[in-house]
Amino acid sequence: MTQTSNREHAIVIGGSIGGLFAARALSDLFTQVTIIERDPVNDQPESRKGQPQTRHLHGILIPAQKFIDNNLPDVREKLLDGGALENDWGKVTRWHHFGGYSYECELGVRGIALSRTFMEYEVRKAVTSIENIQLMAETSVDSLVMNDTNTSVSGVHVTYRAKDHTQETILADLVVDVSGRGSPMPKWLNSMGYTAPEEQHVKINVGYATRTYTRTGKYLDEPKIFMIQATPPHQTRTTFMFPIEGDRWIVTASGYLGDYPSADANEFLEFVQSIPTDDIYNIISKEQPLTNVVTHRFPSSRRRRYEKLDHFPNNLLVIGDAVASFNPIYGQGMSSVALQVNVMKDMLEQHDNIISWKSFFQRTSKIIDWPWQVAAGEDFRYPQAEGEMPPAMNLINAYIAKVHRATHHDPVVFKQFAEVLNLIAHPMSLMKPNILWRVLLANTTKSTEINYMPVQKTTL
Ligand SMILES: Cc1cc2nc3c(=O)[nH]c(=O)nc-3n(C[C@H](O)[C@H](O)[C@H](O)COP(=O)(O)OP(=O)(O)OC[C@H]3O[C@@H](n4cnc5c(N)ncnc54)[C@H](O)[C@@H]3O)c2cc1C
Repeated sequence: MTQTSNREHAIVIGGSIGGLFAARALSDLFTQVTIIERDPVNDQPESRKGQPQTRHLHGILIPAQKFIDNNLPDVREKLLDGGALENDWGKVTRWHHFGGYSYECELGVRGIALSRTFMEYEVRKAVTSIENIQLMAETSVDSLVMNDTNTSVSGVHVTYRAKDHTQETILADLVVDVSGRGSPMPKWLNSMGYTAPEEQHVKINVGYATRTYTRTGKYLDEPKIFMIQATPPHQTRTTFMFPIEGDRWIVTASGYLGDYPSADANEFLEFVQSIPTDDIYNIISKEQPLTNVVTHRFPSSRRRRYEKLDHFPNNLLVIGDAVASFNPIYGQGMSSVALQVNVMKDMLEQHDNIISWKSFFQRTSKIIDWPWQVAAGEDFRYPQAEGEMPPAMNLINAYIAKVHRATHHDPVVFKQFAEVLNLIAHPMSLMKPNILWRVLLANTTKSTEINYMPVQKTTL
């Protein structure tokens, strides 16, 4: 159960956000770090074939922001200079959920709104400017190289897609798989005589459709975030609209249980008009669309339980969507990957020569439990969701529904919930006596009952 006794060369498979974060962390510990990315990568904000989700609205929760601030200190300023917007999340967000809007107030939780492609571009520029990091684009990793005893990974076999599909072997002391949801690791493990990890799924069939628009008028100086969310089990349609760089809005509509928004421009608008409030429709119907509508399907949240394996090759780690990919509605993917990278760095720093793959996956599994509980838990509010329900989920969901409703009135509960959703406070913190008491009180007052009435369409 050993890992990395040498620190000469580390290979990162995948050059998306998780691969960039991993390479940044490893650059402090290895002489050379090579990121191997299958797609061509251009010097511009772009969405690549291997990460089509980047065309859709991405919220950046606090752990991902912190990772950037702590490891790539110039990036935040570049993002803000380039038009990203920073503000207190509670002050600028119109979040409609469970029959009402959250109380508008400062929460002390600051967020930046921008496109995923712009964020990743600045992160990529900063990471690849580090002297000992090399990005090999248009190169796919086809399989792992094993040592003579088939116990340790010693490199990867690659194909140079830009160079007549030439194949080569690249040796390394550590290989980190950050190749996303489509990671071939289970297949590779099987082909090397290892058992693949057990998989957990929560099938929910969500469809996304996204379009960007001009942002004019009062929202140029006072941009707001709109999150108009379906309340399960009867509503299935959600739409989020964030202000992004370039004086634009990005609008992502999503529908659960196969109620997919369409790529047709008129049908997209009709979908946005059909959600519980008119806030977003009233704005975008007066703005100019800047792109076509693009769509994405997300059939299920999926988790691979590497921590339960008995055998696993040394000198190999798996991180990010390759391990767990959650229903994106809560925007946790990039922060989950940042937290897993922090564990990897922490363990490599603490144990000069040896880290155990088992302890690594056990620690990252604890990190994943938390967003998994939030995302999968919320999905199970729909009786049609299929999968293994976490223990006591119905009971937890009944309480969290009360927390949702309490945020309509109570800034203290809202702040605590915002911290949980931002992965900076543990979900159990919602059970603290002072929060529990406020949640129960907020759900019994007369003012709350007003919010239980059928949703009124509102105009800002
Ligand atoms: C619609 C949608 C909206 C989302 N919204 C949010 C959000 O608001 N906030 C948030 O934090 N997260 C969000 N996510 C999740 C987020 O996009 C992912 O969690 C994040 O991109 C995961 O990063 P990753 O690096 O692990 O994998 P990916 O981003 O999937 O990248 C994997 C990379 O590996 C490369 N690759 C694959 N195979 C190989 C190979 N064999 N050789 C070389 N390279 C390879 C691919 O080309 C790709 O570049 C959303 C996801 C979806 C689907």
